[in-house]
Amino acid sequence: MSDPSHLKANRLAIEGGTPVRDTPLPWELPGAHFIGEEEKALVNQVIDARSPFRFYGLQALAMVDRLESEWCSTFGHKYALAVNSGSAALHIALCAFGIGPGDEVMVPGYMWVSCASAIVRTGAIPRLVDIDASFCIDPDDLERKIGPHTRAVLTVNMSGAMGRNDRIAAICRKHGLRLLEDCAQAIGASLNGRPSGSFGDIGIFSFQLNKNMTSGEGGLLVTEDEDLYKRCSALHDLGYARNDKGRLDPSDERYQFWGVGSRMSELSGAMALAQMRKVRKITGAMRDAKWKIREAIKAIPGIALRDIGDAAGDTGPFLISMYPNADICKRFTAALQAEGVRGPEGSLTCIPMSEWGMHWYFNIPSLVEKRSNARDGFPWTHPSNAFARDYSYRKGALPMCDALSERSALLSIASTLTARDVDDIIAAFRKVGAAFASREKLQS
Ligand SMILES: *Cc1c(COP(=O)(O)O)cnc(C)c1O
Repeated sequence: MSDPSHLKANRLAIEGGTPVRDTPLPWELPGAHFIGEEEKALVNQVIDARSPFRFYGLQALAMVDRLESEWCSTFGHKYALAVNSGSAALHIALCAFGIGPGDEVMVPGYMWVSCASAIVRTGAIPRLVDIDASFCIDPDDLERKIGPHTRAVLTVNMSGAMGRNDRIAAICRKHGLRLLEDCAQAIGASLNGRPSGSFGDIGIFSFQLNKNMTSGEGGLLVTEDEDLYKRCSALHDLGYARNDKGRLDPSDERYQFWGVGSRMSELSGAMALAQMRKVRKITGAMRDAKWKIREAIKAIPGIALRDIGDAAGDTGPFLISMYPNADICKRFTAALQAEGVRGPEGSLTCIPMSEWGMHWYFNIPSLVEKRSNARDGFPWTHPSNAFARDYSYRKGALPMCDALSERSALLSIASTLTARDVDDIIAAFRKVGAAFASREKLQS
């Protein structure tokens, strides 16, 4: 016996009803959708000039220089240094702080593998800090864990929005700790008018494909401190300063390091420059769509939303919702997917956050197993790091991270969502929400 169509429309798609939509949502890759004539024009200039190297060449166009200076004027920083990835920027920043064996760097359990990797490769020890409903560092857990070996805090502005950076910065000042702000996922974000990357000693950004803007690969770091800038500049290159003609000058004893070979090429610089000029448009589109959805679903029983300190400063690429428990979270998300809230094959558009991979500390095998690139187990086996022998990175180390990873869901907000897409997403949340509310006795 077949249902009348209005009954079938009310029935959840996962139970045989008619889905809200049947075309996939767009890929989430924010900047990629906006690649166009502007990128082509600047990249072509570099090719026509046959000058892809940053510091000198046949007819250097200074694309990377222009990227850095426009970045400073657009976002309000004093110094910017472009590099070839966000991961490299993290490593360079920690080296510029002089971090190494015997030091402990605080890092949240919700992050990206690059954060842990950068700390371990300096020879220091990552110390896990729990998160709160901001999905960034819980300042209380941070302060509780600061000890005699703590030298720096790596705070991560996750999933497009900032954490409690004002409080975290105050704690760092009080305890004399360096603060590195990872804004790889938060280009263009701010907190009460203050830009991401300006709360700490150094802020880093990434231009990898999934970020708010992209140059294929690329990254950038900002600082207000001239000496840190010069250290980073030497470190990102061959370990030494360059003069104003772009020639190496190894004579200055303050800037003699081991460089990491992470210069940005003029091709990436040209691409990043064009993308930076449209990043407000990209993040504006995501933020508008996301907050329209948030407002529409916030009263649905059983759903709580990520705590975002400043809506205007959110860049919008992800919407995080929280459910009473892991079982409801999984079933709610599966029901949304069945209603058509899903992306193209292979995308992670609408998932329980338990499927969010190496963003969670306990999903990073090299961290959990304390792996080393070297045969002697460095840095875990370094005598100066004996204080950390009992540190565990296995699930169970951070109760809030563990709980939120199981009972939260992630929705990617593409930079090209149409009004229709947004309406469909809202309709799907309402439909699934209504069905769950009546069966599961969920409280709003
Ligand atoms: C992407 C990312 C990085 C690393 O950037 P890459 O450019 O991919 O090396 C670092 N931290 C966070 C939080 C990221 O999301």
